[in-house]
Amino acid sequence: MPLPFALDHINLWVMHDEIDGVAGWTIIDCGISDETIRANWESTFDTLLDGLPVLRVIVTHCHPDHLGLADWICNGGEKKRWDPVRLWMSLGEYAMGRVMSAGDGSDASGERAAQHFALHGMTDPALLEALRKRDAYYPTLVPSIPRVYRRLRDGDRLKIGGRDWEVVTGVGHSPEHCAFFCAETKVLISGDMVLPHISTNPLTCRCLLSNRRGIRSRCSWVHWAATSPFPRIHSCFLRTASRFAACICASGSFGISSRRAFAGSARSLRDQAAKRR
Ligand SMILES: [Zn+2]
Repeated sequence: MPLPFALDHINLWVMHDEIDGVAGWTIIDCGISDETIRANWESTFDTLLDGLPVLRVIVTHCHPDHLGLADWICNGGEKKRWDPVRLWMSLGEYAMGRVMSAGDGSDASGERAAQHFALHGMTDPALLEALRKRDAYYPTLVPSIPRVYRRLRDGDRLKIGGRDWEVVTGVGHSPEHCAFFCAETKVLISGDMVLPHISTNPLTCRCLLSNRRGIRSRCSWVHWAATSPFPRIHSCFLRTASRFAACICASGSFGISSRRAFAGSARSLRDQAAKRR
């Protein structure tokens, strides 16, 4: 689905499904609230769904390009094609989305964002001014979120289209990001947990490292990625592990065990990549 940003598209999933004997579709991730994107969805609903309804909407995380149109799709789009269906998300992502879309300044954009970035070393006046002008940003891209939702937790198993999908949560990119892994088909719906350059945001490294479970989760992701059947993931995680190692080395505040853990992850990936070659 196109996006009107430097990041010019998002990958979405429309999956054949059946819930309580009703055939239809499960949608994973939605795009921002935008006229063009709504028109694309309308066309998809009219031409690609075989006349079947959407049965549920699953969202990996609260960022606008993933959550923006969830409420609209849950309610059947412009033509209200189906009765309202349930949104499925983790608690952390749902709660963060609700706070940020409240329209009361909770999205911390505008002047607060400029102050935050200045505090962390942004000095370019033009960039800071651009941030100040981008006020109430999140609610314009995510104007509404369903008032009820179905909670996803790490380790949950969903049946989608007759296959088991395991929920794998991760932190760093967002509070409680959900990825979905189907062992039968070896397909990973990774959301934004696996990206060529920004998985996972190093600004949140301190938070991640102060969370022991987060470290274990991240290390297991790195290990899993190194042994996974997806070749492109290897380079993504190699970059991520290297970035972690650089962040850790740049800070004197992290313990030696954390430094070794991530340096070890980077080494392990390099070794395994070398063996594959
Ligand atoms: Zn994201």
